[in-house]
Amino acid sequence: MTDIQKALADLKARQEAGEHMPCPRCGKDTMKPALYTNALSRVADGIMVCDDCGTQEALLAFMRNPMPVDEWAFLNSNLPSVDFKDLPGKAVWEQIRMDHGPALISIFKRWTQEQPGADFKPYRREAMKRCPGLTQIWERPFQVMYEVSDGQLILRFRHTDDGVELSADLMENDK
Ligand SMILES: [Zn+2]
Repeated sequence: MTDIQKALADLKARQEAGEHMPCPRCGKDTMKPALYTNALSRVADGIMVCDDCGTQEALLAFMRNPMPVDEWAFLNSNLPSVDFKDLPGKAVWEQIRMDHGPALISIFKRWTQEQPGADFKPYRREAMKRCPGLTQIWERPFQVMYEVSDGQLILRFRHTDDGVELSADLMENDK
């Protein structure tokens, strides 16, 4: 068994024993007390995740971009935890274009020089680590997403004659 398999087996046993724990995928205190009323994960066999994570997993599976289990919160509890869900997209954009923009542009540049079929995982991990609060990342086209109070902020990257252009789109929540 690998370390991850061991950690998952241990997690499953603790969940089944009824221990109250945060959601293993997002790390938040979002699990309902009755274990099996939560969502069964699509990426970790027999592990229950919160309803939000269940919905996200279904969406990511549909987009063929599943988030691997080694990026789950319970395996990465040393990662900084920040979220922008209380801030509107406009304020988040002003903050992250300065704080995260340079790191993301550097990752984008290196990633777009990779051969097709290259492993995106190291890039994903680097982005998650350097940009706390980032909630989702896509490889081709390279895009990142932040959950914000009024919807989802999507950052897009484009090569231009002057370098890399970064732009943001706010996908507003249905009112
Ligand atoms: Zn969750």
